[in-house]
Amino acid sequence: MHPQLSVVIPMFDEEQVLPLLVDRLRPVLDGLDAAYEVVAVDDGSRDQTPVLLQRFRREWPELRVLRLRANAGHQAAISAGLSAARGDWLVTLDADLQDPPELIAEMMAVAAKGEVDVVYGVRTDRSSDTFFKRLSAKIFYAGMRSAGAKDLPDNAGDYRLMSRATVDAVNALPEHHRVLRLVIPSLGFPSESVGYAREVRAAGSSKYPIAKMVRLSVDSLTGFSLTPLRLATWFGLGGFLAAVGLLLYALIAKLTGLTVAGWTSTVVIVAAVGALQLLCLGIMGEYVGRIYTTLQRRPTYYVAYDSLSAGADERSRT
Ligand code: UDP
Ligand code: MG
Repeated sequence: MHPQLSVVIPMFDEEQVLPLLVDRLRPVLDGLDAAYEVVAVDDGSRDQTPVLLQRFRREWPELRVLRLRANAGHQAAISAGLSAARGDWLVTLDADLQDPPELIAEMMAVAAKGEVDVVYGVRTDRSSDTFFKRLSAKIFYAGMRSAGAKDLPDNAGDYRLMSRATVDAVNALPEHHRVLRLVIPSLGFPSESVGYAREVRAAGSSKYPIAKMVRLSVDSLTGFSLTPLRLATWFGLGGFLAAVGLLLYALIAKLTGLTVAGWTSTVVIVAAVGALQLLCLGIMGEYVGRIYTTLQRRPTYYVAYDSLSAGADERSRT
């Protein structure tokens, strides 16, 4: 039957949390009174996640398993799920039960009013997150907003309900490194938010090490803002003005015979200018890299297996 709702869940090495997730999610979905499918996107897990998924699938026909050939990352895994899912409405949530599945019913009720295309789950209470996570999130959201992502809802993660039209619009984007929580608000569909308290991870450990968080932030900045590039221009302008000032100073010093042996100032200037140049080159490099990977049009993920068409050829998309 054609599903009215698809639930997309990216998971990477989540064997510990998976049984808890099934126990809590299934009653919620069965109680919805709507045909649904759960698209479990196994993001190249190296533990027992794929085995467990197959086991659960035997007694839960609505569970569909999409396995990626290699670990593609959280955002790419969600993208894979968005392309594969068939529902009229799609909800994406984390596997670790930090996003309470019970909220899906509330989101669907908001959607049923027929006024909005997107229902954001907004974390009104993050006290379960570590201090570091909260601090980095604050910097992320404030930074992105001042860098130009004006419609970014505060504290909206990747727990959201989207209409088919929204998902089709997302799927049609040629962009390579999609940061969905920024892409989706920028599409301009009418939206509403429902608040929830972020729970603690039900089991296992975070699959988001600092390196992945930094990557997400850099992708967000370079994908949505030219501010860093403009910053480089301002640095250059400032440096130029300082250089003119120094030149005048040097000339006057020369003419008045007050030539000082300025070892310290020379070293400081050379070091500062060198560092600034490297910083600006790095910033430009990020953008050039983005252009490069976008032009290559290589898929960000490869689907190795889809239980819906089990045995069918491997599929992939950009
Ligand atoms: N995840 C994924 N691929 C990755 C990293 C994470 O599919 O490379 C999934 C993970 O299994 C979880 C979700 O993304 O369902 C969010 O990850 P996690 O809970 O570890 O992040 P945190 O809540 O610590 O930010
Ligand atoms: Mg989590």
